[in-house]
Amino acid sequence: MADPVRIRAEILKEMMAHARREPHTECCGLLAGRDGVITAIFPATNSLASATVYEIAPKELFLLFRAIHKQGLTHLGQYHSHLATENIPSPTDIEQAGYPDQTYFIISLQQDAPDPVRAFSIRDGSVNERKIISTGD
Ligand SMILES: [Zn+2]
Repeated sequence: MADPVRIRAEILKEMMAHARREPHTECCGLLAGRDGVITAIFPATNSLASATVYEIAPKELFLLFRAIHKQGLTHLGQYHSHLATENIPSPTDIEQAGYPDQTYFIISLQQDAPDPVRAFSIRDGSVNERKIISTGD
């Protein structure tokens, strides 16, 4: 397993809430923070409006990056949901992963998922799960 990833507990909750608000579409968004700890969530729109793939439109991505920088934060990760499959990176997720130093969170909306949120690093096509450490203030 790769190094653990640190994230504020309320951000994990907000990620789950976003996924539940969109039960028929893969939700997606960006994560940012300071000193390697994820402290902020930037929900986005799945421009493909699909149940099996996601994409953030370039224009929205640009605005989100601008908001992250305005707040003095660093872009540290992204998240999306899987509606009916296990929350591990799909072949498409692996192929499209463009941030080798970041963390990819995947939320499962399956009722019996043992771990509703899992985190991975995806580097040159190889996937490593990261342990999630949730922190308080
Ligand atoms: Zn996926």
